[in-house]
Amino acid sequence: MADSRMIIETRAGPPFFKNGYVVGCVETREGLLIDPGDEVDELLAAVRSHSLDIRYILLTHAHLDHITGVGRAKAALNVPVGLHEADNFLYRAVVQQGIAFGIPVEAQPPVDFFYEGEGPLRFGRYSVWIRHTPGHCPGGVCLVVGRDEETERTLFPGDTLFAGSIGRTDLPGGDGATLLRSIREVLLAFPDDTVLHSGHGPATTIGQERRGNVFLR
Ligand SMILES: [Zn+2]
Ligand SMILES: [Zn+2]
Repeated sequence: MADSRMIIETRAGPPFFKNGYVVGCVETREGLLIDPGDEVDELLAAVRSHSLDIRYILLTHAHLDHITGVGRAKAALNVPVGLHEADNFLYRAVVQQGIAFGIPVEAQPPVDFFYEGEGPLRFGRYSVWIRHTPGHCPGGVCLVVGRDEETERTLFPGDTLFAGSIGRTDLPGGDGATLLRSIREVLLAFPDDTVLHSGHGPATTIGQERRGNVFLR
């Protein structure tokens, strides 16, 4: 079920059509930016249109499509940027990642903190728990958003699990068996009505993927 007290704005743009997210608490107007990439200006416009006070920029992982907007977002919002430490080698190599894809990419400012354990971090009446889900890359995480006093959670799994697909494992540090273990042990442990907002493509639910995702058979 979608939580009507949570603002979720999704933006995606060329060349990767990766989803960047603005997540906000309706009651307090505090929020998060998740994975700002080439669509960062649209994310910042959404932040302004909702009058949100952004607390953190959180990265699900450090492939270039998820991080090319970090510098612009940080310059606009002046808030700390978080990443799993195991992906810092990718983050620091963003220019080289661009060369590998034939795309000129600017270097990004260093991250401000590495995730420690599962958190939580807080914005408004919400907490964000960090669950390590390696496989697509070594430092991939699922951001788990919800209220302490309630059981409902909303997942931002990055490129680990998509509607009808799973993350690729052919990039540096990827591993197929590790990815499937992360999906089964971390993501599929959530109830069927849990909504996922993935790094690419439409939103889905745990139940829909548990039943219909051919890669999980
Ligand atoms: Zn990725
Ligand atoms: Zn991606």
